[in-house]
Formats: sequence, C-alpha cells, structure tokens
Amino acid sequence: MSMKMKDFKGIKLSNMGFGAMRLPTLENGEIDEEQVFRMTDYAIEHGVNYFDTAYPYHGGKSEIVMGKALKRHPRDSFYLATKFPGHQIRGKYKKDSIYDPATVFADQLKKCQVDYFDFYLMHNISDHALDTYMDTEWGIFDYFIEQKKLGKIKYLGFSTHGSIPCMAKVIEKYGEHLDFCQIQLNYLDWTLQNAMGKWKLLQDANMPIWVMEPLRGGKLANLNEENTAKLKALRPDESIASWGYRWLQGIPGVTMVLSGMSDFNQMVDNVKTFSEGESLKDNELDLLFDMAEGMKNAIPCTACRYCCAGCPKGLDIPNLLRIYNDFRYAPNLMTKLEVMGMKPEALPDACIGCGKCRIACPQNIDIPTELKGLAKTIKELPDWEKVCQQRDAEQLAARQI
Ligand code: SF4
Ligand code: SF4
Repeated sequence: MSMKMKDFKGIKLSNMGFGAMRLPTLENGEIDEEQVFRMTDYAIEHGVNYFDTAYPYHGGKSEIVMGKALKRHPRDSFYLATKFPGHQIRGKYKKDSIYDPATVFADQLKKCQVDYFDFYLMHNISDHALDTYMDTEWGIFDYFIEQKKLGKIKYLGFSTHGSIPCMAKVIEKYGEHLDFCQIQLNYLDWTLQNAMGKWKLLQDANMPIWVMEPLRGGKLANLNEENTAKLKALRPDESIASWGYRWLQGIPGVTMVLSGMSDFNQMVDNVKTFSEGESLKDNELDLLFDMAEGMKNAIPCTACRYCCAGCPKGLDIPNLLRIYNDFRYAPNLMTKLEVMGMKPEALPDACIGCGKCRIACPQNIDIPTELKGLAKTIKELPDWEKVCQQRDAEQLAARQI
C-alpha cells in the first residue's frame, strides 16, 4: 500500500492533502492537539506530505496547532500551505489595517514556526474580493510576488469560490506568477455549481488544480439510505466518502485533493482510499451522476440562460437559482461565503418582478417568486458585519507578533 503521488514542477506531492479547517475539537471548543499530532504523524508515516491551513481557520489557531504538529518532523518531510485573508478585508485601503500583508505574513511564519512557506495562496478571490486583491494601494499581489522572489514562498496560488469571469481576470493579470489554483470540485458541484466550467478554464490556462470541498462539507460522505445501499452493493469494502475521492482521481489536471479531516478514523480511511483501490468504472460513474441529479431535484433550471437576455436588471438568474437550490438542499458555508462575496446589484432583491424572465423560461419556472424566496433566505442569514467583527477579534487574539 503506497500513497498515490503526483508530479508538480519537479517535486512529488501526495495526491491527498491534510486540510486543517475542521480539526478535531475538545468539549470546550479548543482544538484537540493530541489528536491532531496523532493524525499528522500517521499522515506523514503513510506518505501524505501536504498540509493546508489558513489565517482564519479555527479563529486563527489552526496555524498555531499545525505549526506545533509539524515542528516535530524534519522541515523537508512536509510541504506547508497557508493563505492571505484578503477576502476578509472590508472597505478601502488603510495604512494601519490589521490586514497589512507584511504584518499578516510575519505573524503566519511565527505561528507556524517556519521561515518559509512551500505553498501560499490568496484566500478566496471572490467577485467581491477581486477589487481588493487587485488594488495597487493594498499591493497584496505585489507583496507576495516579492516574497516568492525572496524564497519565503516557494509556490504561489489562489483559492476561489468566485465566478468564471473573476477567475479569468486573476489569471489574465497575475497568471505568470501563479503556480496553482484551488477550487471547490466534487461530483455534485460538477454541474450544480458549474465546477466543470472552472475546471475547463484552468485546464485551458495550464494551471494545476487543487481541490477543496471534495465531499461538499461532508454531505457526500453521508448519503441517504437508498444511495448508500447502491454504492455499498458495488463496493462493499469501501466507504461512502471514498467514492467522492475516487471520482476526483479520474479528473485530469487535479494534482491535490484536500480533505478537512476531523478525526483519526477519517485520516485512516482517506489514506487507504488514496493508497489502494481502483478508479471508478463507467457503470459506477453513471450511478454517481444519477445520484447527483437526484440530489439537486429542486428548481429544475437547466441553465439554458434564455431568461437572462431580457432581464432589465442584468441578473444572472440561473446562478441565483443554483444558489437557492444549494441553500435548500445542500446548505454549506461556502454558499454563504459566495453570497457574501456578491455585489448588491447582483443579489435577488434587485429583481423588480417584471416577469420577462418567466415568459422566456422553457421550464416554466416562476422565477420572480423563486428570487423572492432566495432574497428572504439571504436576509435570514446571520448578521455578517457582526460575524466579521467577531472573526477579526478572534484572529487578532491569536496573533503572535
Ligand atoms: S422578474 Fe426580475 S429576474 Fe425576471 S426579468 Fe424581471 S427583473 Fe429580471
Ligand atoms: S430560462 Fe429557465 S431553465 Fe433557462 S436558465 Fe432561465 S430559469 Fe433556468
């Protein structure tokens, strides 16, 4: 049994990476360091060499714990990735911002107890965060390109839940400095969130793909009884989670699959999945896509876009309906983040109810009513300003410089 490895610019990366966003926690909510150490040791012993954390994970403490866990291993036995939280920045550039790139970067090096990062990402370049990331006064990209030149960062990339045009803008402007891109990719989002379109953009740009949310926040590891039985009938000895990973193993261009593991057993199961077993056969792929169709049986939008041309507000109607489907049938943090990243004029309450879209829709979807429902759902989300303030406070408390 040996870990599947991928070639990346002259080095070998384990196809599976340990994501530190959902680490095991104790009853008091603190990270269970002992279990993280055990998981890290097991991962390294079994060939996993990629560890992914980020400034905001666990209120700023994930970097600290991963730093401690990895410090117990030789520096050349692992690759460490973290991210700059540009997506958290609100408002215009201010000299004394808590998100000054140099300050954040120095803090991250200290928290992780390293003097360079192997991989470093601009965190979640959403449509909303794009302007901040491109702002020359902030100088975010310029600063990290410089760190790469100085050897403090070996490979530079970006993660995104943004739209395809947003990703294209990043690649157009900074592509020559970027080594990889991290996107949400799984067999449900392949069509539900048009991850296929993002995958194609990256393939065309020759950019290696890092995968986050391979199981959609655990949803694809916990299927209903009927679907579980179907998968178990074909592969009785494999976990339900393994199907999500096996599907990704067959997607060209995917170098890294990150799994945010929350306990030791998940680590053992994932190591097994990435170390042995066969890729999915045609009949298994058909079954998976049939199941995926059943999981998005909400608003039957086919994304034909006939409705878009006549919309006086220029709304991206199929995307809004897809978000509504997400909220109703597979709610997850990423969808909430995506909505947070949208400009006000792109949100459903911009709809004036003129009904032009309803006439154009071959699926007879009552679009204005659905958009009203989505607008209500969004209003019921937590108060983001408060959430952001609390997040900033937690991360400042975890700061070590
Ligand atoms: S009803 Fe709303 S979404 Fe439909 S065309 Fe009019 S403004 Fe656009
Ligand atoms: S016309 Fe109907 S099916 Fe087509 S994209 Fe618009 S809402 Fe979806």
